[in-house]
Amino acid sequence: MSGEIIPQTLKKVVEEVASLPGYGEKSAQRLAVNILNMPRGEGIQLIKTFLEMLEKIHPCKECGLFTEDELCPVCKDEERDRQTICVVEESFDAFAIERTGKYKGLYHVLGGRLSPLEEITAEDLNIESLVERVEKNPIKEVILATNPTVEGEATASYIYNLLKNKGITISRIAYGLPFGAVLENADDFTLSKALEHKIPI
Ligand SMILES: [Zn+2]
Repeated sequence: MSGEIIPQTLKKVVEEVASLPGYGEKSAQRLAVNILNMPRGEGIQLIKTFLEMLEKIHPCKECGLFTEDELCPVCKDEERDRQTICVVEESFDAFAIERTGKYKGLYHVLGGRLSPLEEITAEDLNIESLVERVEKNPIKEVILATNPTVEGEATASYIYNLLKNKGITISRIAYGLPFGAVLENADDFTLSKALEHKIPI
């Protein structure tokens, strides 16, 4: 007799969620239990919302921002400064920067950060497409706005080395952001200041 009494489907959900970056066994269990404890209709609605998201949302073909259209609202906006690209790890970092209203350039979403531990290499990120954008467009400045973490810094310096001889200004946002902070969680004031006081490197 096997001592395992966990239902197979529940086990499968926990395993699949726990395999996502940032999730462990415990948080995967919590998510599964929370959904199972919801009134069934609400649980189904939640999953439907996920399905709708998967059907509608994809990366902007130019910058990688999550969007419902082929091009995101930033890339479509003719009023934006098309000579400046702000490089972020994830779309939600760009959404946070956008909320400050202080940035008028374009974005480039890497889709993560270099991480030897998670075996995420440059090939897994949208780095090649960034270099292409810089080469093919009249870009004057690239702002590296990866998170002020060990991995974010490593990613920024990797990109810096690829772009340093392209005749553009490369800067890093840093000011006021505590080391280890995550951009998307920073308050608007801190983010505004960090952008204002970006440092050329
Ligand atoms: Zn875009």
